[in-house]
Amino acid sequence: MNLRAPKGTDDILPPASRTWRQVLRAWEDWAERFGYDLIQTPVFEQTELFARGVGESTEVVQKQMYTFEDRGGRSLTLRPEGTAGVVRAYLENGGTGEMKVAYSGPMFRYERPQAGRRRQFYQVGVEYLGVASPEADAEVIEVGYRFIVEAGVPGLEVALNSLGDATCRPHYLRELRGWLEERRDALCDDSRATMELNPMRVLDCKVCRDVVAGAPAPVDSLCGPCQQHFEAVKNRLRQNGIPFIEDPRLVRGLDYYTRTAFEYIGTELDAAQNAVGGGGRYDGLAESLGGSPAPGVGLALGIDRVLLASSADPPSVLDAFVVIANEARRDVAMGLVSDLRQEGVRVDVLADDRSMKAQFRAADRRGAPAVVIVGDEWDDGVVAIKDLRSGDQETVKIGEVAAWLVGR
Ligand code: AMP
Repeated sequence: MNLRAPKGTDDILPPASRTWRQVLRAWEDWAERFGYDLIQTPVFEQTELFARGVGESTEVVQKQMYTFEDRGGRSLTLRPEGTAGVVRAYLENGGTGEMKVAYSGPMFRYERPQAGRRRQFYQVGVEYLGVASPEADAEVIEVGYRFIVEAGVPGLEVALNSLGDATCRPHYLRELRGWLEERRDALCDDSRATMELNPMRVLDCKVCRDVVAGAPAPVDSLCGPCQQHFEAVKNRLRQNGIPFIEDPRLVRGLDYYTRTAFEYIGTELDAAQNAVGGGGRYDGLAESLGGSPAPGVGLALGIDRVLLASSADPPSVLDAFVVIANEARRDVAMGLVSDLRQEGVRVDVLADDRSMKAQFRAADRRGAPAVVIVGDEWDDGVVAIKDLRSGDQETVKIGEVAAWLVGR
């Protein structure tokens, strides 16, 4: 066959998909523990949403969107990120009050594919809308941190910055623009072009890193309320034991990002993919989408990268494998499998008549920690259970198999 998955996309098959499932469950669990409800938004949206909600001047909008016309002549785009769609949904459904939601799903960007940089990739995230308090920022940072630690990313660090707001940012941008203007000749072509529109993005340019090393930073120009907000976020993080480093170079280059910006860095990873996620406050976003003003803060994490970074072995997806010692016992064995599944035990069995050896091999391949052997002892009301890790074997009453397997 010469059909292939499109460039920059991946099939996630077992056993790697077992880790995916485990990690996505852990995500759902952390989101719930912090009180985030589920939100689902469309995988494609009107192109204009991203032009406004991600920003015309960004690389994502200029070069990376999968945009197409549908049969009705509408311009649609596969979502390159999750926030714009969530804020659109919030505004479309009234746009007032507090809303805490978590999402997860595939995102699409036309990138040059490499490890950890895919054209279809998977993000999870939360958005905390309608609340301006620094408690919301700290909480969002914490939920991401707790999850990534559990997912096993080594050397995790939170990089934190504040970008100011509509009061102090204009002064800062004037100062920065002036500073960059004096060094115009040393900047790359891209930076010279973005400098007028979006000078903060120049701080983020990999090529101009050395030139901008001494540039004024947004934190040095914060107004009183922005300073207080930043201090409150940091205090709460300290109090809750979330380690962070202040990074005055960390920017999100669009006007609707305000105050808090952060990234999660896996310091032991390759620099090209060491950012496993990030986020920030975006109090100007609702208005730039044409809605009434609404504060918000959120984060997005790249699951592909979280998994690249964590070295955990794929977990077993089974509690036990049922081995049929003699095909004449298949009916009772299948009845036992059905009962166990209904009792919440994760069990599997081969569908074909195979040797004991082949069945044990299958159990092993699937990573089952135990096998339940249905043989002639069934007539005495018992089965043998073999612990595949220790090699111990025990006789267990049929009615007690479920408790034995999950109670270990
Ligand atoms: P961003 O929306 O660009 O701030 O990205 C947030 C996170 O999503 C990043 O830190 C990455 O973990 C992940 N991510 C972004 N783009 C890609 C991509 N092309 N492939 C894989 N992961 C990505």
